[in-house]
Amino acid sequence: MAASAETRKVIVLIGDGMADRPHPALGGKTPIETAHTPNMDRLALEGETGLMDLIAPGVRVGSDTGHLALLGYDPYAVYTGRGPFEALGVGMEVRGGDIAFRCNFSTVDDNMVVVDRRAGRITEGTDQLAAQVNGIFIEDVQVFFKESVAHRGALILRGPGLSPKITDADPHAEGATVHEVQATDPDDAAARRTARIVNQFVRLSYEKLRDHLVNRKRIAEGLKPANIILPRGAGVAPTIPDFNSHHNLQGACVAETGLIKGIARFVGLRVLEVPEATGGLDSDVMAMGRKVAEALQEHTFVLCNVKGPDVAAHDHNPQAKVDIIQRIDAMLGWLLTQIDPASTFIVVSADHTTACSFGDHTGEPVPIVIWGPEVRTDDVAQFGERACAKGGLGRIRGKDLVPMLTSLMNVQEKFGA
Ligand SMILES: [Zn+2]
Repeated sequence: MAASAETRKVIVLIGDGMADRPHPALGGKTPIETAHTPNMDRLALEGETGLMDLIAPGVRVGSDTGHLALLGYDPYAVYTGRGPFEALGVGMEVRGGDIAFRCNFSTVDDNMVVVDRRAGRITEGTDQLAAQVNGIFIEDVQVFFKESVAHRGALILRGPGLSPKITDADPHAEGATVHEVQATDPDDAAARRTARIVNQFVRLSYEKLRDHLVNRKRIAEGLKPANIILPRGAGVAPTIPDFNSHHNLQGACVAETGLIKGIARFVGLRVLEVPEATGGLDSDVMAMGRKVAEALQEHTFVLCNVKGPDVAAHDHNPQAKVDIIQRIDAMLGWLLTQIDPASTFIVVSADHTTACSFGDHTGEPVPIVIWGPEVRTDDVAQFGERACAKGGLGRIRGKDLVPMLTSLMNVQEKFGA
């Protein structure tokens, strides 16, 4: 390791889905290009800019795969199905090797025919129903179940000799009978065992929920009972290298959504809660900034994800996106007064493009700036999708970012002699 005494630190500030396409309502500019962002522009002027493909050119990435890439992981190697990430998203503790599922509370009749896959879109009492099956053992496998929004939930099986190579219990159609889960490879003993356990779980959920007070009340009110839990989309949680030890960093995360917090915890970042951060357009972005400054005292890598820009774009609302970007810029301006510029790097970027016109994630690259000591400044003086295309970083991939930072921070092991 180099003999430098100073400890270098980095803030990675991610505007979720902040990048966009040119929009007619903004005179052909993008929301970032339209927003008044003096602090992001200062970083662009004084730093090094470029474009980033989170995974590869043109790939429409999710917030989960985008953040895995931003944290230096190969999403194609690490992302093993939505089940484990759904569980992370609802705040469950997920360990490498766990088998995780997405689930619905559903309504079945006495013959196990699905009457309503979403149990009348139940909104209340699912926590009480979840408590009936959470923490139980089936054979030697521990079962964790947590409710999510409305009729949704996540299931984790933890134990030896399990496999995700099984079919769904959810028949994905009303009027169909609940499926008997089967191994996709009949010769795979672990898959057969897992299928058996999931089938027991489904039956148990029916026995425990059928006459539960929550459901008796629903039936009395003419609502459909949430009398069964139907798992689907089995995935095995990957066993991954710990972020901190792998990169010689002490990492923390300030985020709003369960999914980002869950991924951060899973890779080993310390998650710092900000109760005022709601994940919506009314979120207290400045409170997140204060938590980032606090986190920087004890950590060398602080990831901050502000959800608002993505929310505005999913709402097809470019003006709301401009507003939230300006609030992120104000927070950045305050952070710049709190940090030591001789030893602190700041990265501003996005985890994917979310186009206001399309209302969803799209595959265009995102702008990125790296600001801090000894960066190779370029001629770009504005932060934005088209301005940063002329920057010195060129076009990088998401998983390149952390190695680029640990190099600048002088904490990376040398490859070779
Ligand atoms: Zn996102």
